[in-house]
Amino acid sequence: MIIVMNAPTADQIKRVLDKLTQTGLEAHYLHSCGRTIVTAIGDATDCNAAQYERMPGVDRVLSIVTPFKLVSRDFRTENTIVQVEDVCFGGTYIPVIAGPCAVESYEQFRDSALAVKKAGAKLLRGGAYKPRTSPYSFQGLEQEGLEILKTVSREVGLPIVTEVTDPRAVERMADQVNMLQIGARNMQNYVLLKEVAKTNKPVLLKRGLAATIEEWLMAAEYIMAGGNDKIVLCERGIRTFESYTRNTLDLNAVPVVKELSHLPIIVDPSHGTGSWRWVGPMAKAALGAGADGLIIEVHPDPEEAASDGPQSLTPANFCHLMQELSLLASALSRKTT
Ligand code: PEP
Ligand code: MN
Repeated sequence: MIIVMNAPTADQIKRVLDKLTQTGLEAHYLHSCGRTIVTAIGDATDCNAAQYERMPGVDRVLSIVTPFKLVSRDFRTENTIVQVEDVCFGGTYIPVIAGPCAVESYEQFRDSALAVKKAGAKLLRGGAYKPRTSPYSFQGLEQEGLEILKTVSREVGLPIVTEVTDPRAVERMADQVNMLQIGARNMQNYVLLKEVAKTNKPVLLKRGLAATIEEWLMAAEYIMAGGNDKIVLCERGIRTFESYTRNTLDLNAVPVVKELSHLPIIVDPSHGTGSWRWVGPMAKAALGAGADGLIIEVHPDPEEAASDGPQSLTPANFCHLMQELSLLASALSRKTT
């Protein structure tokens, strides 16, 4: 447990130290930038952090008994900047990733890519391997889709992020794409997490459909413990009793994760809402909540999309949204392009 005290008196420090030692904990303190940091070592499970928070001079109490260590702010206080080619997540810029849910053909993907680049997107998305609820739904173009992704990425000049679903494909895919996406359904596929950890590729780790923030950070911990700290977290909505929307976009997760972890967090309002009509409002809300980026589905002809058409923006709607986001970002002293 760490107790941060703001300009405390000697007596206030003594009261905190005495209380800790009475509980059987070993207490130490140090002064840093006008603050006093008291560390308590030992089994703090019986300690009531709230009691310390109420003591005079105490600013806040941090527990380092979190199950996640490397991804925690206790381990690294400054924000981690994850760089994908020349695009940075976690700094002043708020990059927008856009593209169709799935790669369907060269023409469909090229048209999507040209449209999203023109509107200001910095990374291109598109699934070649699609984890679908039904085995009878479109499963993606697989290797052919990957070839289209690479060709269009080269032609249009945007880096690509695409989902990897199979641990055996990680090494092969890491050589071909700029960022690997772990989808919501695979967030707790630990074999897959350990494989992406071995690569040096940036990873977009989506939150599981029913995962708590702690479980999600533990999934990130697997990747970081395996040697890869290039992790961008992505809130994409969770399952709740609400059925008007496809998922419930948990924007609470943005400030909570930013407090708990040094990793950047972006938001996916497309899967988070399930309808193109609500993508814009929730994208703007995500920026207000402090998101470090967005991932948005855009299709040249959403009505004909092989997957996720109802939540895909048309290029014109995306372009309009990007203009609104740019204005909003500057009001927040940040930038989208
Ligand atoms: C996707 O990005 O198209 C996708 C399948 O997302 P999720 O894993 O969040 O459902
Ligand atoms: Mn999708």
